[in-house]
Amino acid sequence: MSAMPVVFVGHGSPMNAIEDNEFRREWQALARRLPRPKAILCISAHWETRGVYVSSAEHPETIHDFHGFPKALFDVRYRAPGSPELAHRVADLLDGTRVHLDAHRGLDHGAWSVLAPMYPEADIPVVQLSLSGLQPGAWHYDLAHALAPLRDEGVLVVGSGNIVHNLRLFRYNETAPKDWALRFDEEVAERIADGHHEGLLGYETLGPDALLSIPTPEHYLPLLYALALQREGEAVSFFNTTVMSTISMRSLVIGAN
Ligand code: ZN
Repeated sequence: MSAMPVVFVGHGSPMNAIEDNEFRREWQALARRLPRPKAILCISAHWETRGVYVSSAEHPETIHDFHGFPKALFDVRYRAPGSPELAHRVADLLDGTRVHLDAHRGLDHGAWSVLAPMYPEADIPVVQLSLSGLQPGAWHYDLAHALAPLRDEGVLVVGSGNIVHNLRLFRYNETAPKDWALRFDEEVAERIADGHHEGLLGYETLGPDALLSIPTPEHYLPLLYALALQREGEAVSFFNTTVMSTISMRSLVIGAN
């Protein structure tokens, strides 16, 4: 069995879960292209914690962690099972780190808004790994390295965030990308394509475009989890490479044919 590919998805608006648009269609196409996973481990921008948590519920609830959206979005229930088994496996792999299993945590929209379009039958177990909020990029990247064996165990690792994510400066009626957003998105893409991850870990030092693009790190960090799992010589391909105002939807898959 060849290693399961790794995915980073720019999730953008929660409406992508239910609205037919180019982003959602690409997610659906991606799922058809990937080997069928035994389980999914999602690292979402929307689960920040102090310390490292892994969701271990047998039947995780759908968390509607947003407001100001239509009722149809609040009505979505993504009923994928959890996997206490995978949660324990993740905790074992992160051996040197204190990991808390959380049997009550459901799935946040960073996970379900992407996974519902990808796997609408909701028949693949999903586990989430939290973002330990106070840690620097290199720490997350190193932590993620320990998850490498999951790829050989049929587990699809999905990072869900946005490379450029500045909601404060976002304008719904102005979809043209800001110059700095476009520049930073392209700079990150170039570094990824060249396999130069080091500079991406210390994103704070990448200059003014980076500071505007990553005002807070939670949407950026899931990218580092995906990159950390790239193996020697593995190809990266990008999709959804659109920047809207101050949000980059750029997504990538590592190790897919
Ligand atoms: Zn988000």
